[in-house]
Amino acid sequence: MSIFPARFLRLHLYWLIPVAVHIILIVPSNGQRALSGTPEIELSLHKLNVLGSVLMIAAHPDDENTALLAYFAQGRSLRTGYLSLTRGEGGQNLIGPQQGDLLGVIRTQELLAARRIDGAEQFFTRAIDFGYSKTADETLGKWGRENILADIVWVIRKFRPDVIILRFSGTPRDGHGHHQSSAILGKEAFSAAADKNRFPEQLRYVQPWQAKRLFWNVFSFTPEQEKEAQALPHKVEVDAGEFNPVLGKSYAEIAGISRSQHRSQGFGAAERRGPSKNFLATVAGDPPDHDPLDGVDVTWNRVPGGEGVAPILAEALGTFIPEHPDKTIPILLKARPLIAAIDDPWAKRKLEELDEALALCAGLWVDATADRYSAVPGSTLKINMEAIDRSHYPVKKTGFGLSGPGGGQGGGLYDALPMPYNEPVHQELTWKLPLDAPYSQPFWLSRPAAGNIYDIADQQMIGVPDAQPDFMASFTFDFSGTQVTLKRPVRYRYVDPTEGELTRAVVIVPEVAVDLAEPVALFPSEAPKKIEVQVKANTADMAGELRLDLPAGWRAEPARQPFRLTQMGDERTVAFSVTPPREGAQGRLRAIAQVDGKEISSGVAVIAFPHIPPQTLFPDAAAKIERVDVKISAHKIGYVMGAGDQVPEALRQLGCEVAVLSARDLAEGDLSGFDAIVTGVRAYNVRADLRANQQRLMDYVQNGGTMIVQYNVAEGGPFGGRRTGELEHVGPYPLKIDRPRVSVEEAPVQFVHPDNPLLVWPNHISERDFQGWIQERGLYFASEWDAHYQSMLETHDPGEKPLEGGMLYTRYGKGVYIFSAFSWFRELPAGVPGAYRIFANMLSARGGH
Ligand SMILES: [Zn+2]
Repeated sequence: MSIFPARFLRLHLYWLIPVAVHIILIVPSNGQRALSGTPEIELSLHKLNVLGSVLMIAAHPDDENTALLAYFAQGRSLRTGYLSLTRGEGGQNLIGPQQGDLLGVIRTQELLAARRIDGAEQFFTRAIDFGYSKTADETLGKWGRENILADIVWVIRKFRPDVIILRFSGTPRDGHGHHQSSAILGKEAFSAAADKNRFPEQLRYVQPWQAKRLFWNVFSFTPEQEKEAQALPHKVEVDAGEFNPVLGKSYAEIAGISRSQHRSQGFGAAERRGPSKNFLATVAGDPPDHDPLDGVDVTWNRVPGGEGVAPILAEALGTFIPEHPDKTIPILLKARPLIAAIDDPWAKRKLEELDEALALCAGLWVDATADRYSAVPGSTLKINMEAIDRSHYPVKKTGFGLSGPGGGQGGGLYDALPMPYNEPVHQELTWKLPLDAPYSQPFWLSRPAAGNIYDIADQQMIGVPDAQPDFMASFTFDFSGTQVTLKRPVRYRYVDPTEGELTRAVVIVPEVAVDLAEPVALFPSEAPKKIEVQVKANTADMAGELRLDLPAGWRAEPARQPFRLTQMGDERTVAFSVTPPREGAQGRLRAIAQVDGKEISSGVAVIAFPHIPPQTLFPDAAAKIERVDVKISAHKIGYVMGAGDQVPEALRQLGCEVAVLSARDLAEGDLSGFDAIVTGVRAYNVRADLRANQQRLMDYVQNGGTMIVQYNVAEGGPFGGRRTGELEHVGPYPLKIDRPRVSVEEAPVQFVHPDNPLLVWPNHISERDFQGWIQERGLYFASEWDAHYQSMLETHDPGEKPLEGGMLYTRYGKGVYIFSAFSWFRELPAGVPGAYRIFANMLSARGGH
């Protein structure tokens, strides 16, 4: 999906939940390091002497085995990575309204937050999570098999893992088609990465790479799976329950903290103590004897010229004194020239790690901050570069540099500046942004998606997890004659009265933000409609003109509207009257602001939660416009919001007046004035007040009302469907909500009772109304229902048995009750015309007989 729901622009959400305080592992939401002091130094000294790597591959944020990642990264000091094929865009968001691209941005940050705790690195392919998929064939068809295989090969060739671990088996046992595909492609990539004839265009940047072996990290949740796992040949066991005395935690405990960062999925996890057995079954390559890394040389001996390095680094670790880390500096400085002389990717990486270890041992704090977190092209930022030597080792500062849009600015080297103990040394710089500086859009969103994959032009950016900082600072220090350069992104540092000190990225934003109130504008008749555009100044003294760009046949009045905004932050809403063409038509409308000869057509969206750093995006100021005939006889609608959806806004597009019903409305309000009452997604799962007032709602139907119940998660399902008994009474007669879903959005739909008024009045529904759907047909259909209900529609995934429980209709007293598990919550906000026509019939059901 690449539609930015415009109504979430400018939204700041703070979801306050108690944050557990951990003595050693402090959950970092502001870009600080997860560990500090002795454990951090000891782990980094260990790591300097280990030259081995492990890459895990799966499909989604949360598929990874976090305990195993922590075991390899922190227990074995191996370079450890997790390649998630997708950023998790297609899932359900449990903490806010963001969907699609915006949800992918949240999940990306949740993975990075998890990695800061377990110590692994994060990678992605270009694949977009397009929602649930039952088969690998469907998944690979939608992504393009070669596209994603190429990306996995690329990440392997760049990362050069000794061992690759698949999280899934590549068979239907894995369930989700994305899961199966991650293993099918992972197996192929294991050998393709080593083959110079596969994806030769990558060899401009990387070399072929053959990992030593490929494992499947067997998951065994059921006794049968456990038996199956035990029987696998060539497997080794790893105990992620091992205790790490330096960290004061086992890897499974660390995994609990790391995994609990997946808040948007509601995956809070326990910190498990005791053994935690993991099986790694050999899928390809040499089988190991006892250990996953058997036969892999993970020492400096694997690098030509590295022989002399290991003993020095072993001495550094062996003589490390927690109270005097500075005493380790001279030993590290002995190893440095040996490492610097080696031309090998491992040596390059280890040199950077060694320089950071030197800084840690010297208690050296380096930091670059800007005077604000956002700036417009053409403006000037003040940047403060600060360094403090918090040891008695005589570090001298010898240079600095800054790079940003428009080039680099280096202070270059200057005479060594002594750094007195614990005294900050400052440097103030200014940075003039060029007029054409690009906005800080995350790189994978800077172009429209190409179907179900992101369009990333620069090969080098494929696999990269996060948006790149716009400004980078470098600091050069003299350690007894050795020059060491440290790099840091420039950030904005501030104090929040409730959260304490925080930092956030510095971003470049457009001079004005242009937002449309709705991502979809539906024209149910030929009548003109008001389209509102909001313009907000990101800098002072902004004046210009707004206009709408429309497809041929559409007309906006007035053609242009001037605006003037004096202060930064000032905003104005401007309305245009848009007239659609007579015939059915659709297209895209774009709002454009013209300022100083420049055209701006994007808004500014900030996503803020306490567990991830604030994210800024620049959604297109564009909306889908639809001229489609929709007749409706209902006007006043009551909506019972469930877990969160955008259906009320969609119903307003039909000209309905929608009231969102509170607990009090349900308990005491007069419901008789509503033409229809609709329950939102998962409303019966999440609202006890709805379940408690079921009788009032049934009375409302009996007295002539229309009630529509959208999907709820079956008992025992995830996302609040865990309790039992809550779904026994969602209708006037018994019906059982179950697991069936139809995940192919093009799956044919049959009319079970074509004469029912629901399908003929006021809109005559035909096959055409089921065209152009997105993501899926529906989920959590009913599997059994009372004879009073009439099934309206039958649909099923290819090769599966027919399902008639997606839409059930019954008259009850003077009114009508409809259960419908079709995915209205996706189709309506996406502007699918048929979905509007069918939903209009449901709302109008009382008048249809
Ligand atoms: Zn998954």
